Amino acid sequence: MIHRPLYPIQKNNLSASYLPKALLTIRQKKTPMTSQNKIISLSKNSFFDRESDTESKISDLTRANQYDTCGPSQKPNLSKIYHAKNNAKGYLLFKTLYTNACSFDCKYCINTRKEKKSSYTPEELANTFMQYRKNNLVDGLFLSSGIPKDPEAIMDKMLDTLELIRYRHRFQGYIHLKVLPGASYGSIKRASHLAQRLSINIEAPNKDRLSDLSTTKDYRIDILRRQRWLKNMDLSHGHTTQLVVGAGSETDLEILNMIDFEYNNFNIQRAFFSAFAPCRGTALEKKEKTEKLREVRLYNTDFLLRKYNFKIKEIKEILDDDNNLPKKDPKTLIAKNYFEKPVDINSATYIELLHVPGIGDISAKRIIEKRKITPIKKRHDLKKTGVIMHRADPYLKINGWHQRTLGI
Ligand code: SF4
Repeated sequence: MIHRPLYPIQKNNLSASYLPKALLTIRQKKTPMTSQNKIISLSKNSFFDRESDTESKISDLTRANQYDTCGPSQKPNLSKIYHAKNNAKGYLLFKTLYTNACSFDCKYCINTRKEKKSSYTPEELANTFMQYRKNNLVDGLFLSSGIPKDPEAIMDKMLDTLELIRYRHRFQGYIHLKVLPGASYGSIKRASHLAQRLSINIEAPNKDRLSDLSTTKDYRIDILRRQRWLKNMDLSHGHTTQLVVGAGSETDLEILNMIDFEYNNFNIQRAFFSAFAPCRGTALEKKEKTEKLREVRLYNTDFLLRKYNFKIKEIKEILDDDNNLPKKDPKTLIAKNYFEKPVDINSATYIELLHVPGIGDISAKRIIEKRKITPIKKRHDLKKTGVIMHRADPYLKINGWHQRTLGI
């Protein structure tokens, strides 16, 4: 669908003379840059010869967004550039807030601190992003924002920014936009023409848990209703959500039930989990941080639900007495319940193969292809399909042989 440009498309106005010295040096050297040395260059240098208003805004607004992670075990990113992954492919995103001013009161959020607030203008943010992009320092943009008053007013500014990037600067690459809670249907529809991916954070697994953390967000109306709208919009990278883990007293079961509901009812592409870390000056500054392993186990289990079609019932069986995931690998624990005895590698179904620790989707498909030609009779042949044998051995029978114990 073609969306009519609201801005006249112009030639890109980033002439070499507009660029600060540091970037001109990078461009003139024409040295192939790895993602690592790109970031080192940025941190050592600056777009500007001296600290300017725009540069200090970039610092404030990228730092304010650093706790919004998008993947397992990522450290809060201290540069402006964020390493994202999609289907094992890595790419670099310029990740920033439009403004860190916010009138909402989410207890865990750094933007509730009483301190100087910053905001871009649409022109400023579009030009800044394009500077990064034109110098091949980033592949795309990840834009979110605080909400100073009316979510609609800030959505409007963010969308004006995206229109400048798309229609004036003709950038066709990846943009991920966070939809603000309470944004209108019209804004979200407009956003769906400008970004490949939209997301709205549910933050907590249900209404009660969210109300412990924020008095200003209505879970059902401001968030779930918007997700229902997103479900029917045409987005090449779909829509996602994120939760803060451990800021409240929610259990892993509550989180997993909600995520399962979201996969089944809102068609979310995936969920992200962000282990709570206290920020000085916020209402939860004294609360203990969430162990990173909890976040990792939620990602492991989410993967089983989302990619391997495991059932929530199987996951419930391995939870501890407090309805939380154990510290051990969930797939191994589920396998112990699932298999009464080792399964024959030549007759196991695809679903059975996926339940074997050490066998993933690719190796399961390879096994099925291989045994169509000839039965698998040796461990060595199985190993060649990519199976991690020491994990899989207790659950498999190969040519009549099987390991005698189901180890964990
Ligand atoms: S809405 Fe809540 S989480 Fe988002 S910026 Fe404002 S205070 Fe932070």
